[in-house]
Amino acid sequence: MKVTTAQSAGFCFGVKRAVDQVYEQVNDKDSGPVYTYGPIIHNDQVVNDLKKRGVKVLESIEDLDTVPPGTVVIRSHGVSRITVEKIEQKGFRVIDATCPFVKRIHRVVEKQSADGFHIIIIGNDRHPEVEGIKGWCQGPVSVVQCAADLDKIPDLTEKKICIVAQTTFNYNKFQELVEKISKKRYDISVLNTICNATEERQTEAREIAKSVDAMIVIGGRHSSNTQKLFEICKDECKNTYFIETLVDLDSKPFQSFRHVGITAGASTPNKIIEEVQKSMSEKSFEQMLDESFKTIKNGEVVEGTVLDVKEDEI
Ligand code: SF4
Repeated sequence: MKVTTAQSAGFCFGVKRAVDQVYEQVNDKDSGPVYTYGPIIHNDQVVNDLKKRGVKVLESIEDLDTVPPGTVVIRSHGVSRITVEKIEQKGFRVIDATCPFVKRIHRVVEKQSADGFHIIIIGNDRHPEVEGIKGWCQGPVSVVQCAADLDKIPDLTEKKICIVAQTTFNYNKFQELVEKISKKRYDISVLNTICNATEERQTEAREIAKSVDAMIVIGGRHSSNTQKLFEICKDECKNTYFIETLVDLDSKPFQSFRHVGITAGASTPNKIIEEVQKSMSEKSFEQMLDESFKTIKNGEVVEGTVLDVKEDEI
């Protein structure tokens, strides 16, 4: 079995930067108690490791009233402007680990909405990144995830429209939706804010999925970028498996696969990817042994391994 692992699998620049910043705060004795506003990434293994080091996850502004003051790290998804202000007002120090690519969207929508543009965010309305972006708009904003959502937005014919995307949105779907919006003849300005890391990961995953018998996508169940990777790979390769860690992998079907691809979402630690890769390589070795055993009985391919072969059969 051949194993191909995507080079773009695993932590992206923004996630690595955010995780590193939490560990830096943990090791800085002047930080006081360290908190993250929401889980720092969609990965239980990393969140649990930080928990062991005393890092608490705060889910809401109200949670700040239940803990002693300290340092709050904002994760790479970013938050609304009002959230940052409220945290500071409550006497906490804020370390803003919002990914610079997301921060750029905040700046764009803030400026464009102040200039009278109606903002359309192409993305998932319930995703924290989108909630954060909405919180930087200074005027009307609509979120569109699929063509059906276009019917829900108000008539914008007279308005200037600025379109941005959730950084992890599927590029092809983004283009389709922009085309549909353009057909409505609105006066639009479009900024493709899909991050390169996501685009590269999706393109590479698609290419690998096209050429393998099975594809393994590793990442947190709640990670939207991993879910999108899974959808993309599943479209190209019907034997696509979504796992969080090696424990979730049922290795039985892999005995019949000749070529397996591996990719992983932006919040998947290298350690987990390496474990899956190692397991597949071992499987590949077992398969190779098994196959070579099958070929040595009286020069014919038969079932069983060399251990089944009696001396007089050889
Ligand atoms: Fe930043 Fe891109 Fe990573 Fe999102 S996927 S955190 S935008 S580098």
